[in-house]
Amino acid sequence: MKDVNCIFCKIANGDIPSATLYEDDDFRVILDLGPATKGHALILPKEHFANLFEIPEELETRAFALAKKMAGKMKDALGCDGFNIVQNNGIAAGQTVFHFHIHLIPRYDHDEAGISWKPGTLTEEAKEEILSKMRAN
Ligand code: AMP
Ligand code: ZN
Repeated sequence: MKDVNCIFCKIANGDIPSATLYEDDDFRVILDLGPATKGHALILPKEHFANLFEIPEELETRAFALAKKMAGKMKDALGCDGFNIVQNNGIAAGQTVFHFHIHLIPRYDHDEAGISWKPGTLTEEAKEEILSKMRAN
């Protein structure tokens, strides 16, 4: 299904032009218009799913396999020194476009892309709480 109000549905299906690196029946891979680094790209399924929890497992598996394939090709073509694969779900996690997508972010030594977090400390209390909640489910 497509969502008529979704910009990534329109891009993925070719209704809005994009810098396309790859396309098949189910996916389009485009350059991000606000790149974190040179070559930052997005994998878009052609069907509309808001996030990781909505996309069917079979398509999700193929999306991540495609991410690995594209990362290898981009590493060779762009000569990057590392690679981040990022997939945001929900406003709290920084998702701004609510159509499932995977970020492919080539990394270069000394680039200034800020994909990091401040490490906290895993306390005994938090550890026990998480383990017991996760095991209960
Ligand atoms: P997220 O924050 O994970 O939802 O990522 C959305 C990404 O889509 C951001 O990196 C934006 O720069 C990118 N983006 C938004 N609109 C467009 C567009 N029309 N074409 C290409 N990339 C876009
Ligand atoms: Zn969509």
